[in-house]
Amino acid sequence: MSVLKIEVEKLNKSFGQLHVLKDINLTVRESEVVCLIGASGSGKSTLLRCLNFLEIKDSGRIIIEGEQIEETTHDLNQVRARVGMVFQHFHLFPHKTVLENVMEAPLFVKKMPKEEVRVEAMRLLEKVGLSEKANVFPSKLSGGQKQRVAIARALAMKPDIMLFDEPTSALDPELVGEVLATMKELALEGMTMIVVTHEMGFAREVADWVIYMHDGKIVEVGHPKELFQHPQEQRTKDFLDSVL
Ligand code: ADP
Ligand code: MG
Repeated sequence: MSVLKIEVEKLNKSFGQLHVLKDINLTVRESEVVCLIGASGSGKSTLLRCLNFLEIKDSGRIIIEGEQIEETTHDLNQVRARVGMVFQHFHLFPHKTVLENVMEAPLFVKKMPKEEVRVEAMRLLEKVGLSEKANVFPSKLSGGQKQRVAIARALAMKPDIMLFDEPTSALDPELVGEVLATMKELALEGMTMIVVTHEMGFAREVADWVIYMHDGKIVEVGHPKELFQHPQEQRTKDFLDSVL
């Protein structure tokens, strides 16, 4: 029996009059990679942000590793430590070195001992291929390198789940591959991941499931081969025709 990592039931979220997430249901099991695709404005980022409690849902249930999370009863910083997130625009601290960026959250949020945090941060920088950049500032890095630091920084909190919101969309085309390779490695190690992406090649190769969202609803869910080759819904077909 595979372990349920994320369960979402009838999730709704509005911004004022704008109903952005409409009765979203979603289940992600341990070590699954789910790619979330859909046009701009369909609610992909809002869904990820609700799962990480950067946005608070209006209604519905979010169950992380069997535990129903409510902002009223849970310390959301602890939840965020378990559910790591990587953004399109890196969000590194510009005045801190690469190593300090990776050390920041375990040191100041988890209050772990500095030496232990440093050793683990160096291990993670090695893992993403950036140990030689440990002492430089983010401004000296390429976009691809910045994003790999952001991934190392998220991993430093030892999350059980990783959310990626268009992690390669801000990168020059020649830098996309190195970030996708890092993500693929993470997937192969068994990390549970939800990835919002326009990289259909990555989705095809790495995803266990692809979810197509349109206008705040999940329109279609399928194995990548099935969904890309034989979309069941006209909307999915139209979207795929526009991006493939
Ligand atoms: P996607 O990531 O699929 O492009 P988003 O989740 O970012 O979609 O946005 C879905 C809709 O919600 C869009 O119409 C967007 O303008 C709106 N929206 C997102 N965040 C906010 C916010 N903080 N306040 C108001 N509207 C928002
Ligand atoms: Mg988005």
